[in-house]
Order: sequence, then C-alpha cells, then structure tokens
Amino acid sequence: MTIHNFNAGPSILPQEVKKQCLENIQNFNQSGLSILEIGHRTKEFEHIVAAASALLLDLMNLSSTEYDVVFLQGGATTQFSQIPMNFLADNETAHYINTGVWSSKAIQAAKDFGSVNVFASGEEKGFLSIPKNIVMPTQGAYVHLTSNNTIYGTQWNEFPASTLPFVVDMSSDILSREMNYNHFDFIYAGAQKNIGIAGCTIVVIKKTFHKKINRKIPQMLQYRLHIDNQSMLNTPPVFAIYVAYLTLSWIKEQGGVKAIGEKNKTKAKMLYDTIDASTVFKGTVEKEDRSMMNACFVANSEILEQEFLSICKQKGIYGIKGHRLSGGFRASLYNGLSIESVAYLCALMNEFDSSKK
Ligand code: PMP
Repeated sequence: MTIHNFNAGPSILPQEVKKQCLENIQNFNQSGLSILEIGHRTKEFEHIVAAASALLLDLMNLSSTEYDVVFLQGGATTQFSQIPMNFLADNETAHYINTGVWSSKAIQAAKDFGSVNVFASGEEKGFLSIPKNIVMPTQGAYVHLTSNNTIYGTQWNEFPASTLPFVVDMSSDILSREMNYNHFDFIYAGAQKNIGIAGCTIVVIKKTFHKKINRKIPQMLQYRLHIDNQSMLNTPPVFAIYVAYLTLSWIKEQGGVKAIGEKNKTKAKMLYDTIDASTVFKGTVEKEDRSMMNACFVANSEILEQEFLSICKQKGIYGIKGHRLSGGFRASLYNGLSIESVAYLCALMNEFDSSKK
C-alpha cells in the first residue's frame, strides 16, 4: 500500500532524494566509501557544505556578499537561546510577536538574557489568527517573529517592515514560497520539514547583523566562530547536511522556490476547498491567515474524528492527527509532498462527507 505522509516533522522527503541517499550510503560518489563514513574535513564534504550554502542563498535570492550561511546543531530550540545570548545585552530589550507555541518558547528563552517585550500577540484569540495593525518598535536589540505556526496552522502572508534587525523562525515554511528573504537579518530553521532531516539547523545571517556583547559566550554558541570555520568548528552532522544539499538541489531542479511555491499553493487550495465544501469538516483558523504548510481542521464530533482517523489508517494516510493542543486534524503539506497525495486525501474526505449526508 502506498503511504501518504502528512507528518508535521520530521516529515516527507522527495522520492528522488531518498533514492540518492540510498545510493550514496552504499557508495558515495563512486568512492567505495559510504557518505556515513567520510571525514568532514575532506575535499568532498567541504564541497557539499559550500554547494549547499550557495544553493540556499541562490534559492532565497540572497547574495553571498550580504549573507552568511551556517549549518548548526541543537534544532531551532537552541536558536531560541542562542539568538538572545549573542544579540541581546542585559540592559537591552528585544521585541517579540507571539503567534503560538513556538514563539512562546522563543520568548521564554530570551528572558534569560535581557528584557523581552511582547508587542503583539494572538494569544487572546487562541492563536487562531495573525495579529493585525501592529505598530513596530523602533528602539531595541531586534524584532522576532515566527513565519508559520506549525501547531495552530496560521502563517504570515505579508511581513511588517522593521527598522530594527529582523529575526525570523522559518522552521516550518522556509523555501516553501516566494518571499523577500532579504526583508530579514537573521533566518533560522530546523531542516526536518522542508529541507531534509532532523539534525541540522539552517542559519542565514546578514553580515551587517553583528554585535559585541559583554558576556561570556561558549565557543560552540558563537555565530562568528561557526561562520569563520565554514560550519566546521567541530564535527558537523555530515549526513543531515548531505540530505539538505540533496533536497536543495531537488528544489532547484523543480524550478526553484517559485515553482515549489506554486505547487504548495495548489495543494493548500485543494485541501482548504475540500474543507470549506464539507458539512463534516471545518477549518479552525481565520481564513485569511491559513497556513499553506499545516492545514488544521476538525470534524463535527469526536466520534466522527475517530472514525475518519481510523479510515485514514486503513487507507495509508499517515500523520494527520492534530497536535494535542489543537485536537482534530493537521495535514502538513511540506515541499516533499506530492499533489497526488493531497488529491488522495481530498477524495477520502469527500467520500466520508457524502457517507454522512
Ligand atoms: N519553531 C517552529 C516553528 C517549529 O515548528 C519547531 C518544531 N516543530 C521548532 C521551532 C522547534 O524545532 P526543533 O525541534 O528543531 O528544536
């Protein structure tokens, strides 16, 4: 049975990437060695890191004279602390927008290092919409937002303009749509949704965003050292970076972020149209803020939800159960997911819907 993987992360990889992984685990570039066995300070791996960085910037339409790329470990969660550790002095304020669980965690982590001002929040509305008409702060260390809210399924369509350095957690929508990536001074994302597997965190830093902070920062947590050592301050997650390189190459072959964005738009429209036409299923968030990556919806009753979940299980639909905080369903539609898988889910939903009429 074909499995259709709607998991929220780690999540589906393109077939072609998995095939290349298998081949290169057996025999990396015809060297007789496995990609799992090569040294990180080899020419071959140095080439992979350089090529992955160049591809990432190219796909984001950013220039290497303006931005640096580093591949780190510790997930996006480590960034929640590492960013304020490096960019927020004790006597300064950093400004955060709270749009859900992940922003809340970033806010909490920043409080260890300086003062934190939450100047816009979706909390009162249960995080089911993106805050509107916000007034951006003009003084302070930086502004932070989360571009896509993986758990509740909301996403920023348009970003506010910031005169302060702008930091964004793009863990669940990086390279999923065209946008002005140069709007930001610092972009970070775990690779495990749109760019590969768990184990490497992508960080893109504008060269002008630097700061001398009067606090002792462990070497492994200093961005400058990672940049100066081309992501090889210590042994990097070789295989995770390799999979990111393959996935970035795949995105480029698909026609880049423009083509991927159009495909993602099609997938999201198919699913939301199905939800909106249904008498059984219902979307949970404000329509204009719906995420193209994580579509959240519920059924009319818990019994119906259980029934549909069990049908999904029998029919090969995987990972569609909603997060425990929001309940219902969450279908994640990341880059690697095909239009066919979404069509398959929609057909099943339509069939279920008709059976209840
Ligand atoms: N930010 C967002 C938006 C996420 O979706 C996640 C994970 N799902 C994280 C941060 C945390 O990432 P990690 O598990 O890589 O630390």
